[in-house]
Amino acid sequence: MLIVMKPGTPEEEIQKIVSFIKSKGFDAHISVGEINTVIGAVGGKTIDRRDIELMDSVQEVIKITSSYKLSSRAFQKEDTVIKIKEELVGANKLTIIAGPCAVESFDQLESVAKNLSECGVKFLRGGAFKPRTSPYSFQGLGEEGLKYLRQVADKYNMSVVSEVMDISQIPMLLKYVDVFQVGARNMQNFILLRELGYINRPVLLKRGLSATVEELLMSAEYIMSGGNRDIILCERGIRTFETATRNTLDISAIPVIKKLSHLPIIVDPSHGTGLRDKVAPMSRAAVAAGADGITVEVHSCPEEALCDGAQSLYPGQFEKLYDELRRIAPVLGRSL
Ligand code: PEP
Ligand code: MN
Repeated sequence: MLIVMKPGTPEEEIQKIVSFIKSKGFDAHISVGEINTVIGAVGGKTIDRRDIELMDSVQEVIKITSSYKLSSRAFQKEDTVIKIKEELVGANKLTIIAGPCAVESFDQLESVAKNLSECGVKFLRGGAFKPRTSPYSFQGLGEEGLKYLRQVADKYNMSVVSEVMDISQIPMLLKYVDVFQVGARNMQNFILLRELGYINRPVLLKRGLSATVEELLMSAEYIMSGGNRDIILCERGIRTFETATRNTLDISAIPVIKKLSHLPIIVDPSHGTGLRDKVAPMSRAAVAAGADGITVEVHSCPEEALCDGAQSLYPGQFEKLYDELRRIAPVLGRSL
C-alpha cells in the first residue's frame, strides 16, 4: 500500500503515520518526491485503509497490486540516481563498466585498465569469485584478485565492480569493492539478496538465465526491503531456443523495466551474445533503447583469457565502441 501525503506535509505528520502503520506490523519506506512524499507500507497483515485515508495529511492511499512495491514506479516516480564516487548512475550520462571476465593476474588487469581509463571508463569490472558451470574451470583468484582490483582501480581513479557469490564473502568484499555484482545464477539466491539489503553499497543485479522481468524486480525488492535502495538492474540475455548466440539479449526488457520501475537498467552485451563481433551492435541497440549504460568484457589478449575470451573485446574494439556510443548518446538526450 502506498500512502501519498499532501504536498508540504510537515515531518512530524509523516512520522505519525509511520508510527501508526508500524504499530499494525508494517514496515515503512519513505520516498520523498518533487511534489509528494510517499510512504510505502509493506509486509503487514491487515489494516483498514479508511483509517489512513481519513487522516488530514493524506492525499490518497493506493493499493499496489504488483508483488514488487519499493522497486515500482508507483512508489517512486522519479528515476533512481546512484552516486558512486564522482559518477551518477541512472542520470544523463551513460554508465560504462568494462574489464575482463575474471581477474587473472595483476599485469593482465593493469594493462586493460590502463586502456579503459584512457578512454574515460570509470568502472572497472572483473570477477574474483567466478560462478563457472564446470567445477574444473578457473574459479577466480579470490581475495588476491580483489586486492589487484582495488590497487589498479585506485591507480586509475576507477570504481570496482565485482561479483559476490555467497553471504560469507560479503565482509571481505566490503573491503575492496564499490559495487557488488549479483550474477545471473544467483539472482534468486534470496538469502544473499536479503543480506545485501543490509549493506551500504550499490548492487548490480543481473537478470537470471530464465527469469522474467517481474522475477528480476522481485529480486530487487528483496534487497530494497532490507533498506538498500541502490540497485542497478542488468539485462544480460536469457535462454531461448536460439543457439546462434550464447543467450538472447532481451532489448525490449529495457523499455519494459523503464515503465515498471524507477531503478537504472544497464545491458551486458558480452554475456548477452557470447560473441565479440555482436557486442558493439547490441551495445548500440541497448543505448538506443534507453539503457542507462552497458557492462562489457574487455581483455588485452582474449585468445589467452581464462574465461569468456570469445566474447571479450580487444581494447581497440572497445575504444571504437566507446566513440560510437559517445556519438549516439546525444541523439537520445544523453551524454558519455
Ligand atoms: C559476469 O559478469 O562475469 C558473469 C558471470 O555474468 P552472468 O552472471 O550474467 O553470467
Ligand atoms: Mn564473463
